[in-house]
Amino acid sequence: MSQDLTRRTVLAVLAGGAAFLVKKANGQIVWQVNASRCINSRLFEAGVEACNLCTTECVVALSAVRAVNEYSKCGRCNICPAYFNITSAVNELGQPSEKLCPRDAIARKAIGKVDPEDPANNFYEYIIDEEKCDGCGKCVMKCKEPLGLGSITLRVRYDKCVNCNYCSILKACPQNALMQLPIDQAL
Ligand code: SF4
Ligand code: SF4
Ligand code: SF4
Repeated sequence: MSQDLTRRTVLAVLAGGAAFLVKKANGQIVWQVNASRCINSRLFEAGVEACNLCTTECVVALSAVRAVNEYSKCGRCNICPAYFNITSAVNELGQPSEKLCPRDAIARKAIGKVDPEDPANNFYEYIIDEEKCDGCGKCVMKCKEPLGLGSITLRVRYDKCVNCNYCSILKACPQNALMQLPIDQAL
């Protein structure tokens, strides 16, 4: 390889870096959780402990990562394994008596034509309160087949993220599951 080519290559790399910095300065590059890699996502084993590093490793006091329920993929189940602790005692309505979320950040609302007598006849919307959620991943881990459909995933919320040059969560993540994206391609 000639010296010229080497110099051109170096300049090209530097120019790429400069372009990256400009894009970042314009807020166009953002961090996001890659759900196809995150241990908690529906693609990984059910029943193991959820990974909570997205909660503990973020530089922001209440992590910038939140659980997000994609309603179009949600089964609107009566016995939602992300909402209820399905191993808790069953109450008089035939439902588990305890909730799963340690921060009580998931609300449940019957939708459509509601049967007040029998909860099993209804469909439910599960709404995550992002001011309470700290992205611990417990509900994400439970929303898996056969009981859940994997509609809940962890996501970096851009209004809360300070967009570190090198995301602290990525440094700790066992799955290398934080990625950078142009904001117009981001979730
Ligand atoms: S640190 Fe990685 S594996 Fe753990 S919850 Fe975050 S993205 Fe998932
Ligand atoms: S990620 Fe954790 S805090 Fe957030 S809604 Fe799910 S269980 Fe609750
Ligand atoms: S880039 Fe920084 S603020 Fe954003 S999720 Fe990662 S550690 Fe948190």
